[in-house]
Amino acid sequence: MSLTLDLELIGLTKRYGHTVAVDAISYHFSAGTYACLLGPSGCGKSSTLRMIAGHETVSAGSVTLGGRDISRLPPAKRGTAMMFQNYALFPHLSVADNVAFSLKMAGVDAQTRRTKAGEMLELVDMTALADRLPAQLSGGQQQRAALARALITQPDVLLLDEPLSALDPFLRIRMRAELKKLQRELGITFVHVTHGQDEALALADEIVVMNDAKIEQAGKTRAVFEAPQTAFVARFLGSHNVMQMPDGMIAVRSDALQFTQPDAARLPGTITNIEYQGTHVALTATIPGDQEVTALLPDRDFFENPKNLGEAIGLDWDAGAAHALAS
Ligand code: ADP
Ligand code: MG
Repeated sequence: MSLTLDLELIGLTKRYGHTVAVDAISYHFSAGTYACLLGPSGCGKSSTLRMIAGHETVSAGSVTLGGRDISRLPPAKRGTAMMFQNYALFPHLSVADNVAFSLKMAGVDAQTRRTKAGEMLELVDMTALADRLPAQLSGGQQQRAALARALITQPDVLLLDEPLSALDPFLRIRMRAELKKLQRELGITFVHVTHGQDEALALADEIVVMNDAKIEQAGKTRAVFEAPQTAFVARFLGSHNVMQMPDGMIAVRSDALQFTQPDAARLPGTITNIEYQGTHVALTATIPGDQEVTALLPDRDFFENPKNLGEAIGLDWDAGAAHALAS
């Protein structure tokens, strides 16, 4: 599989009648990147992915792969492959025949199809289940079969739309580790749509945070998490407090907030909730302006110096821990 093809979105736009689902977004995915498109429901993630895949027409702008405009090509001619949320396996075909399906459509002979399907099933650890029907598989196994089916065309880019959402929480964490491992082994670009910030942080080299049909912020995952530029991004990524101060709006990570004596601190507050989370304790306080903030304390720090509901506290943070927000 090629390691050299960058994927680029240039002013990519999707309109459904009067609805603008994707509004002139541009982004460059370097080859071999694990990227997550992250954002709330309805912000345009699936429409973006489907335009890349060719399952949805492009209203304006373009998609290029390795510099070639693929926007108007049929899905099978693009060098991309898509794995759907519900896997969309054919119920009457065996796992092996599901995996080989696109090769059959392309007129590949039966022997080659069998060999290639075998290789793909080995890649996802499903060799022993090749003859089963989809209904005879667990959720995780169905997902592996769907992955093998998408990868058999040797795409340069694998597109995954909420691939883990049908799984229970335990399996979701296991399968996400497998997705990451697979991407590393194949070295191809994965573009993974999710509305879960934990999932995006765990998987992505780069995240593209979308809001209301636009890219709100994008870049290396840690860089975005460390320096959210807008209140929306700070709130959506979680683990940040957004505070309106007299001189503007700031974000401070919940693990950077310190609770001290009321008089010496930057802000006064009153504790409104205490939540034990095992390794940490989450303390919520109200601060001036009817705002709520949450601090995450290591459990030992809290129990060495416990606080009570209704207690007046002071709120502090290191100057470097605050990030100015654009809105
Ligand atoms: P997401 O995947 O982030 O939840 P979508 O791309 O599915 O968002 O949808 C973006 C917007 O486009 C939403 O307002 C949605 O209602 C609208 N939309 C999506 N698909 C269609 C469609 N086939 N026809 C009309 N509107 C659509
Ligand atoms: Mg969607």
